[in-house]
Amino acid sequence: MGLLSEGSPLTWEETKAHADHVRKHGIIQFLNEYKRLRDRKKDVLYWGDEVEYTLVKFDHEKKVARLCLRAEDVLNELQKEEKNHPDDHPTTWRPEYASYMVEGTPGKPYGGLMAHFNLVEANMRLRRNELKQLLGKDEHPLALTAFPRLGCRDFTTPLTTPTPEEGASRSLFYADPVIFQGHPRFSTLTRNIRERRGEKVAINIPIYKDKNTPSPFIEDLSKYGDNGESQSAAKPDHIYMDCMGFGMGCSCLQVTFQACNIDEARNLYDQLTPLCPVMLSLSASSPVYRGYLSDLDTRWTVISQSVDDRTQEERGLKPLKENKFVINKSRYDSIDSYLSCKTHNDINLIYDEEILHKLKSEGLDDLLSRHIAHLFIRDPISLFSEKIDQNDEEDTDHFENIQSTNWQTMRFKPPPPNSNIGWRVEFRPMEVQLTDFENAAYTVFLVLMTRVILTFGLNFIMPLSKVDENLQKSFKRNALMDEKFCFRTDILTDCSPPEAEKCVIECCEGKTCTSQNQFKALTIDEIVHGKDDYPGLIPLINKYIDMVEIDVDTRCTIQQYLNLISCRASGKLKTTATWIRDFVTNHPDYKQDSVVPDSVNYELLLKCSQISDGEITDSTLLPSTVTSRTTDNIPKAMSKVDAYLNNKNARNGEITA
Ligand code: ADP
Ligand code: MG
Ligand code: MG
Repeated sequence: MGLLSEGSPLTWEETKAHADHVRKHGIIQFLNEYKRLRDRKKDVLYWGDEVEYTLVKFDHEKKVARLCLRAEDVLNELQKEEKNHPDDHPTTWRPEYASYMVEGTPGKPYGGLMAHFNLVEANMRLRRNELKQLLGKDEHPLALTAFPRLGCRDFTTPLTTPTPEEGASRSLFYADPVIFQGHPRFSTLTRNIRERRGEKVAINIPIYKDKNTPSPFIEDLSKYGDNGESQSAAKPDHIYMDCMGFGMGCSCLQVTFQACNIDEARNLYDQLTPLCPVMLSLSASSPVYRGYLSDLDTRWTVISQSVDDRTQEERGLKPLKENKFVINKSRYDSIDSYLSCKTHNDINLIYDEEILHKLKSEGLDDLLSRHIAHLFIRDPISLFSEKIDQNDEEDTDHFENIQSTNWQTMRFKPPPPNSNIGWRVEFRPMEVQLTDFENAAYTVFLVLMTRVILTFGLNFIMPLSKVDENLQKSFKRNALMDEKFCFRTDILTDCSPPEAEKCVIECCEGKTCTSQNQFKALTIDEIVHGKDDYPGLIPLINKYIDMVEIDVDTRCTIQQYLNLISCRASGKLKTTATWIRDFVTNHPDYKQDSVVPDSVNYELLLKCSQISDGEITDSTLLPSTVTSRTTDNIPKAMSKVDAYLNNKNARNGEITA
C-alpha cells in the first residue's frame, strides 16, 4: 500500500504547515523525473498482480471465525527469504492497512510471452502456501474482500477494545491495534484523515431491507460509547461505520502494466477506464458490512467514504474560508480526466491553477498538466520529520506522497528514480476472489484486454461522466444481472466526432440517435459477449489468441479463465457477492432481519476456506468441469473487426504477439 517511508510521523497540524512545501517540491520532483524520462522508449510489456490476504482464525468449539492479528509476525518471516535472495525470490510480501492483512505479489513482474499466463495461478498458489506454512492450527489465509463481521463485538483474536475517546481512529467499533502497527503510516493516515476532516469519517451503506429488518433501521449507538457525533452522522436505513479501517481493511486485486513509452501508458490509462465499472461488477464480492447484509455488492463506496478527508467547506456544506476548493469526490474515487483524449473529458475538473501554470510553463502538455494539478489539490496526510527536506534531483517522495494517497480507479505511475522501470498504469477497482484460479482468471483476462486494445488499436473511450454513472450502478446489489451500462459499441473508430457527446446521451437513454450509433446501453453479458455490431470483449480476446503463437497448454489455461469470466457475465455462475448473499439468506440461523450472526459468519468462512484450499467446490460459483467456450460469436460484428484488421494490417504491417 503506497509509500512506506521510515521515520517519525508528524501530527496533522505539523503536516498541514508543510503542505505547500510538499506540493511545491513534489511538482519539482515530478518535473525532473518527467524531463529525464519522457522520451524513454522501447520498454517492454511487464505486468503483475497484487493480492491482499486476510488472516482468519477459526474457533471450532465456539463456532466463531475471527480476524487474526498476526500480520506483523507473519510478514517478518515472509520477508526473510525475500531479503536473503532479493534477485530471484518468487514472491514479494508487503504490509497492508490492517494487522490481519498482508499483500503478496510475484517476485518479479511477468513479461510479454503468452506462456507467462500459465505462471500466474501457480505463483498465487505458492504465495498462499508460503502464508499457510507460517500460520497456526485453525488459522487460514483468505482472499476475502470484506470480512462480514468486521467491527462487530469480539471480531479479532486477540480480542481488542475500541477507544472512542482517544487514539488514531476514535472508532466505536474498530480498535487501534487492528491497524497494522509495524509501520507508522497506517495509524498516521487514520488520525490525520480524521483530524483534517474535522470529524470522524462517516460511512453509510444502504442496508438490505429484509422481511424482519426494522423499518426505519436506526441503531442506538450510545451503547458503543458514542458521544452523539456518530448518532448524528449515521443515516436511517444505512449500515453506519466510522473509521478508515472499514474501507482500507477491505482487500482487492490490482494489476499493473508497463507500457512501451509514455504515450502508450496514457492511452492504456484511458482505454481501461471504461472497463473499471465492468470489472468491478464482474468481480463483486462484498455484500456484508459490520454484520449486516447491505444493498451493495462491492466495497468501492465503503473505501471511498472511509478515507474522505474533505472538510465541510470542501464538501460544499459551508462557504469556503479556510480551504481553497469545493471538491466533488473523496481521495479514493474514480478518475476525473483522461490523459490522451480531450473529447470525452466532460467532468468539471478541480485543479490547482498555480500548479497547472507551473507545469505548463515547463513544457508539459495540457492534459497531463491537468491530471497532475488535479492530484495536487490534496494535502499530504502523512509526513515524516526526516523526510521534509529532500534533494529534488534524486528523491520523489513528495511527489509519491500526494500520488499514493490519490486512490483512484486507475493510477498513472511514472518510472521511479534510478530504476529501469518504465511508465506504468495500474488497474485498481477489482475485488479479490476466493480462489487462486479466479484471481488468475481476472488478472489474465485484463492483461489480454490490454493486448487486444493495443494490438488492434481499439477505442473504448466514452464521456467520463457516463463512466461515473456506470460506476455508481456497478456497486448495487445484483448490478451484474439487473443493470444496463452505457458502453462504446463503435470501438473501431479512432477519434470521436464532436457530435459524439450528444450521441452518447441519446443512445444511453434509449433514444434513436441522430448521429452514428457509437454508444449503447448494454448489460455486462452483452459487453462481454457482444451485441449486434459490437463484437464483445471475449470474442475480441479469442480473435487475438487465434492470431498469436501460443502453446496448447497455455491456450487451455486461458480458455478456462475466459470460461469463468463468460459464465459470471452471463449469470451462469454467481458472483462471489451473490454467492455470499445466498449463503446468508438460506442459512437456518438467519432471521430475515439483515443480521449476519456469528454462526453464519463462521460457517460461511469455513466454506470459503475449504473452497480456497480446493477441498470442496461449489458449482454455482465455480465451473465444475471445463465447459467449452460459451461466447456467442457475433458474425456481423466479427466480420467488421476482420475487415478493420485487414485494413490496419495493410497499413501497419503484421500484428505480432
Ligand atoms: P503498488 O505501488 O501498487 O503497491 P507494487 O510495487 O506493489 O505497486 O507492484 C504492483 C505490481 O507491479 C506487482 O505485481 C509487481 O510485480 C508489478 N511490477 C513490478 N515492476 C513492474 C514493471 N516494471 N512493470 C509492470 N509491473 C511491474
Ligand atoms: Mg502494492
Ligand atoms: Mg497497488
